[in-house]
Amino acid sequence: MQIHIRTIVLLVLGLSVASGVIFFAKDQSGISGPLPLQGTPLENQARYAELSTTSQQTSAAPAFSVEKLNLPILVYHIVRPSYPGDSRAVRAIALTPETFGAEMKYLRTAGYHVVHFGDLEAYFKTGAPLPPKPIILSFDDGWSDQFAYAFPILKAYGYTATFFVFTNAIGHRGFLSWNELRQLLAAGMTIGDHTRSHPYLTGISSSTVLWNEIDGSKKLLEKQLGVSINEFAYPFGAYNTAIQTLVKKAGYASARGDYFSGEQTANRLYDLSAMNAPTTTALFEKKF
Ligand SMILES: [Zn+2]
Repeated sequence: MQIHIRTIVLLVLGLSVASGVIFFAKDQSGISGPLPLQGTPLENQARYAELSTTSQQTSAAPAFSVEKLNLPILVYHIVRPSYPGDSRAVRAIALTPETFGAEMKYLRTAGYHVVHFGDLEAYFKTGAPLPPKPIILSFDDGWSDQFAYAFPILKAYGYTATFFVFTNAIGHRGFLSWNELRQLLAAGMTIGDHTRSHPYLTGISSSTVLWNEIDGSKKLLEKQLGVSINEFAYPFGAYNTAIQTLVKKAGYASARGDYFSGEQTANRLYDLSAMNAPTTTALFEKKF
């Protein structure tokens, strides 16, 4: 599949969902449509579980003794007004700006403190203290709507978030531009790496291609943005121990992995557990 993706010239759009996958591509002919899925949502979920368990067994034990931490990592994809033509798949991961704003307001009211991935890493590595009820906000795939609608709300609350972008999409229609990424950084946001082309990393057999997806994208972001890129998010939450080893070798401090809980474990800095943000305020308040 990676070879197929590399031949797509104009644009690759990826959307990852906790329980499933939507993947769209636009090729030279200008025809858009779904790429073949690599499994049903349930199959993917089971696969993630298997991969996650496998990777857990080989991780090295940390020196620090605080091993478990309740720290939800929320994943947002689309924040924009809803349109009558929005598909069910889009609605499953889209929030209106009003809903997103209400969720941010709820976090404040409920006493949550928004922290960075770096704070989580420091906690497990050195025991650096965290505020009460810490939570991490993250955005996936670099959609430009995130800049237009979520960014102003984040700023209004003084919250920071990590935007995981895949570099092949940057500057293309519908996606964040380099200039917008710089504006996010200037406002205290963090940019994370989400590969070059948003592939299933587990489906790539060429070590050169894999390294380019993991390290090449990091180098490009760092060159263009002038900052160190320390966090990685596996597209579709798909990874294995070999991929984790490459992510560590590339110099990332942590990686966002599966989608199962809000609990983090010290020996799992390279498969941090995340969850898709609920798309209604009622669900959000029930969850938190
Ligand atoms: Zn993604």
